[in-house]
Order: sequence, then C-alpha cells, then structure tokens
Amino acid sequence: MTFATLGLIEPLLRALETLGYQTPTPVQAQAIPAVLAGRDLMAAAQTGTGKTAGFALPLLQLLTMEGPKVAANSARALILCPTRELAEQVHASVAEYAQNLPLTTYAVYGGVSINPQMMKLRKGVDILVATPGRLIDLFRQNALKLNQLQTLVLDEADRMLDLGFSEELANIYRMLPKKRQTLLFSATFSDEIRQLAGQMLNDPLSIEVSPRNVAASTVKQWVVPVDKKRKPELFVHLMRKGRWKQVLVFAKTRNGVDALVDKLQGLGINADGIHGDKPQATRQRALDRFKSSDVQILVATDVAARGLDIEDLPLVVNFDLPIVAEDYIHRIGRTGRAGNTGEAISLVCADEVNMLSAIEMLTRQTLTRKMEPDFEPEHRVPDTDASGQVVKKPKKPKKPKTSGGGGGKRNLGKWVDSGEVAPSEPSIKPVRKVPVFNTGPRKKK
Ligand code: AMP
Repeated sequence: MTFATLGLIEPLLRALETLGYQTPTPVQAQAIPAVLAGRDLMAAAQTGTGKTAGFALPLLQLLTMEGPKVAANSARALILCPTRELAEQVHASVAEYAQNLPLTTYAVYGGVSINPQMMKLRKGVDILVATPGRLIDLFRQNALKLNQLQTLVLDEADRMLDLGFSEELANIYRMLPKKRQTLLFSATFSDEIRQLAGQMLNDPLSIEVSPRNVAASTVKQWVVPVDKKRKPELFVHLMRKGRWKQVLVFAKTRNGVDALVDKLQGLGINADGIHGDKPQATRQRALDRFKSSDVQILVATDVAARGLDIEDLPLVVNFDLPIVAEDYIHRIGRTGRAGNTGEAISLVCADEVNMLSAIEMLTRQTLTRKMEPDFEPEHRVPDTDASGQVVKKPKKPKKPKTSGGGGGKRNLGKWVDSGEVAPSEPSIKPVRKVPVFNTGPRKKK
C-alpha cells in the first residue's frame, strides 16, 4: 500500500516524499480514507505510530478541496492538544505536511503573551492547534470565532481528561457549530473517553490499531530494584556502566526533577530539567538542546514530557514510577518510535510496589527484574505479576533477643510492614485517576 493508493493529492505526496515517508503506518492506512470520506473517528493507537499524519493529511486535503476561504478571526480546523509542547510538535508536523498547500497554520497555548496570538488570528488561520485553556481565553476576548469550523481534532484526549480539562472541553463543545467533523485520538482508551466520545462524535468509525493499553512492543523494558535513597547513585552507576549518551529521565515531582539535575550537574554531567514551574521558553530551550544532543540527560515530569517526539531516542529511565499507570505507556512510548527499537529502565523501590503492580496489570506483562550488584535493596520489592498480585514472602522467624534492652537497629524488611499491600487482597487495582466530564475543578498543573 502507498499513500497514493489512499487517495492523497499530489502536493501532499510530494511533502511525504521530502520527509521520507514511504509506506502508511497501520493507523494512517485506516484513518486517512475514513477522514477523507467525511466520517467521525475514534482512534486508539500506540504512541509513535504516526497518528499525527493519520489525521493531519486527510484534514489538509479536505481543507484544500472544500469549504470557503477562512474569514477574519476564524479557524476552519481546530486541533486540541493537552500541553504546549505537544501543540508545538503537532503544529510543526502539520506545517511540514502542508508545505505545498495554500493553507495557513498556527499554534496557540498558555504561558506566553496572548497579544501576538490575537494579532496573528486577525486574518484567520486554516488550521489552529491549541491547548484548551488558551483557546477559551481567545474565544472570550473575541479574538477567535468558531462558526466557520469544519473539523475538530481531539489529540491525546485521555490526557486532556487526566490533566483536568474536562470543564474546558465541555465549554469548547458549546462553542462549536453543530455540523462538523470530529476526530478523537488517544494513545490509551478508558471508559471515560468513550463517554466523551459519545457526546462529541457522530456515528464514529472506531479504529483500534493495537490492543487496548498495550505498551509499544519495540521497547525493551526492565526493572532494577533499589532502595529509594540509593536511586541517584544507581542512576549514575548505570549511566557510566552503560555509557548512556541520550537519556530522557522521568521523575515524579518538580522537586525531584530539580534535585536530580542538581546532583548530576554537581558531578559534571550534562543534564537539564523540564517541569511545569519553568517558563515555556526555558522548557523549549532545554528540549531543543536535548534533541540536538547538547544536553545528554533530560529530566522531566510527566506533564512537561507529554507527547514529545525525539528522533531516535534510545533510552527512557523511570527514576520514579508514575502514579497513574497509563503514564508508563506514554513515557516509554517516547522511545522505540517509528519502527526504531528502544529501552526503558525503571528504578523501583519497595514503596512503589503498588504502582509496579498496576503497570504490569495494565500492560499485561510481568516486567523482568535485573538486580544490580552492590545495589541490592535492603527493603525488598515484593514480587508482582501481570495478574495484579503482590506476593508476600513469609517472614523469617525473628531471632531471639540476646540482650534485654532490644537496642540494636532492626531491619523490618519494609516490603510488608506499611499496610499499603494487604496480603489478603486478591488483586491490586491500577492506580488511576477517574476524570469526570463536565464537572469538578481543574487540577493545578
Ligand atoms: P506520531 O505518532 O504522530 O507522533 O509519529 C511518530 C513519528 O513517526 C514521527 O517522527 C513521524 O514523523 C514519523 N512518521 C509518521 N508516519 C510515518 C510514516 N508513514 N513513515 C515514516 N515515519 C513516519
């Protein structure tokens, strides 16, 4: 199969040739003809499968072939993305695909001044990529009208709900013309997303390129058990041992990102960090420097790293496991993209056993554990498997006390003592946020 047989017009085929795309990926093969035929779409695809081109190519074709010229302060197609970085990235891809077409494209997001965006929208743009909050601001300030909108794309819709954008989505929904084409893309599919789709989509075609919630098979994954306090030391040890050149590292919190970056920089390692507290320009600069290999280690929180496409990224390290199991799939999906192979290593301490169990259950696999000599944890990480069981080993009988005072330091084998893993529980449910469409306050990012 070729892009030509999918019915794409010549200017798009030329752009794809320039970009070196030869064969449509499975999601593209299914999405392109359906979108060209005017269908609404609900598509689940693994990360890195080419879903951006899957919606952007037919969208560009429809805008070129059909519909009136864009009016002032209007957009003919709107692509909603969860984060600024993803909006920039999607916009860059759309602009590349549109290089031979007479269409205008633009991206708007928060964290930067709104005025240049308002100026830019005056003449109207054919395709607007936006994060939900800034889109609503622009709409309320009359900088943008949506009555000319032909197509709405919800990209990474699950993540938009996870980030607490349900209220914004409901508001945007009310601003849209009734007659439109709507395409919903999501790397993972939850029942809440299906509910959102029920409200937003009209007789959608469902595309499920890979089974639900399966991590990219091109990524080799394993776990290194370690005590929490020794994680930084283990990271540096593995980095030197494996001669890591370019690594994207995920930490749970903003403070965690800063602490690890400080530690690495203190050792003379070329590291930088991105998280939601940093200004957009600083984040973008760190990312650009990482992409161009000027920075070797990029440490990030989930929000900042969402959807990043880094060419040939060989390795992702989970310095901390994610609290939401689905984020594991997104994280490791940063590597092994577009047919390349990649590795994902998770440093896991006893406290994280429930998260590990949830990830294994969600991805239906038991992650291989590799003990690193000299880093064997004092607080053992209990055994887990894809069934969600956390296996408690029988406690060794206590040694009889030799002195009356009981003063010596006792190792409690922390793996069972916290009460967070109840041994009688048949299974541990994945740790998941349950977003509710149309209600609830937005979580602070
Ligand atoms: P996406 O899943 O849209 O983020 O795409 C992941 C990566 O695959 C991007 O770097 C795209 O440029 C690339 N890509 C998308 N479609 C194709 C294709 N048909 N052939 C080769 N590379 C592609």
